[in-house]
Amino acid sequence: MNLSLTDITLTYPDGTGRLTALDQVSLEVPAGTVVAVVGPSGSGKSSLLAVAATLITPDSGSVTVAGRETRTLGPGALAELRRNHIGVVFQQPNLLPSLTAAEQLQVMAHLAGRRPRHARRRALELLDTVGLSQQADRRPHQLSGGQRQRVNIARALMNEPSVLLVDEPTSALDQERGAAVMNLLVNLTHERCTATVVVTHDRSHLRAVDRTAEVHDGRLAELPPPGGLISRRAPTTT
Ligand code: ADP
Ligand code: MG
Repeated sequence: MNLSLTDITLTYPDGTGRLTALDQVSLEVPAGTVVAVVGPSGSGKSSLLAVAATLITPDSGSVTVAGRETRTLGPGALAELRRNHIGVVFQQPNLLPSLTAAEQLQVMAHLAGRRPRHARRRALELLDTVGLSQQADRRPHQLSGGQRQRVNIARALMNEPSVLLVDEPTSALDQERGAAVMNLLVNLTHERCTATVVVTHDRSHLRAVDRTAEVHDGRLAELPPPGGLISRRAPTTT
């Protein structure tokens, strides 16, 4: 079990009171599984990813990443966990304008204190995996939106995370490129055995994923698999 959220409640200050963004949310994501999270705007999807990424501490509940209960970790151990076990793909690629595609990835290895020569080789391998071997030396302005999103995904995989968290990766892409990015995420998850959560608006992309959960007003419910094929469901316990 690589990612486990249990009874998460998260509130934000809201005027004089508090707004409940997540209301007793539980989600188990085993290694090698993609769970899609759908729901209307403002329902709590990005908050759920931020809690899973350990970027926000919830009011209550527990987050376990790669077997470690994050409540028990100090700031140093938490930073180490984020660097080495959690890959996050934010909605906006936020690539550094002056760096080439390969360098965007190499920076991640540098931040994690890994050897530069290995980093270059690994960056090129990953770019090849996401179909960008020809674009390794291009800067962001020389890439299309879909290509930038692929660099964004490859960058999140640079330090071999066990948990991959992806926020609306297809929102800026047309239908065809969106479907290709979604299929890429599913293939990478199965190959690299990450526990992956993908937030998406586009329900046509749900066919490719292993499970789907819907968030509504901060509450999460898993949807039955398409066609009621219960046997396709990944086990929720191991
Ligand atoms: P989604 O990603 O599904 O659109 P969010 O998780 O971003 O939803 O937001 C859930 C709710 O929490 C919304 O009502 C939003 O306005 C509120 N919210 C999100 N971030 C903050 C914040 N930093 N401070 C206060 N309220 C927030
Ligand atoms: Mg959001």
